[in-house]
Amino acid sequence: MKVFGIGVGKGKGFLGVYAVNFYKEGEIVMDLSMGDVSPMRDLRTIELSSRHIDHPFGRYVNHHCDPSCYIDQTRELMIALIDINIGDEITFDYSLNESTIAAPFECSCGASHCKGVISK
Ligand SMILES: [Zn+2]
Repeated sequence: MKVFGIGVGKGKGFLGVYAVNFYKEGEIVMDLSMGDVSPMRDLRTIELSSRHIDHPFGRYVNHHCDPSCYIDQTRELMIALIDINIGDEITFDYSLNESTIAAPFECSCGASHCKGVISK
């Protein structure tokens, strides 16, 4: 596992997480079990079973309807869905992971099958 393979930077005018190493499809991008357990869901947390994790990098990962990663709930890991090159944004689909979206928003990811408003 590459511990320092991710960095926080500004992409589309807001913070996001970008790869500073290459990740092969299926590779571990982030160990979410290293994050703090938050008492409640908020804009920064990632849901793992019934817990809400505030991870120092995970909190900056943006939503995408055609994401580069997914959350493996059992192993508590963020895994590359595709090969991720240096400079590519690390994203996951919030609507597939969260049972409730803390703050619904209109998605502007640009995916051809963009879901539009992300809410639950
Ligand atoms: Zn979208």
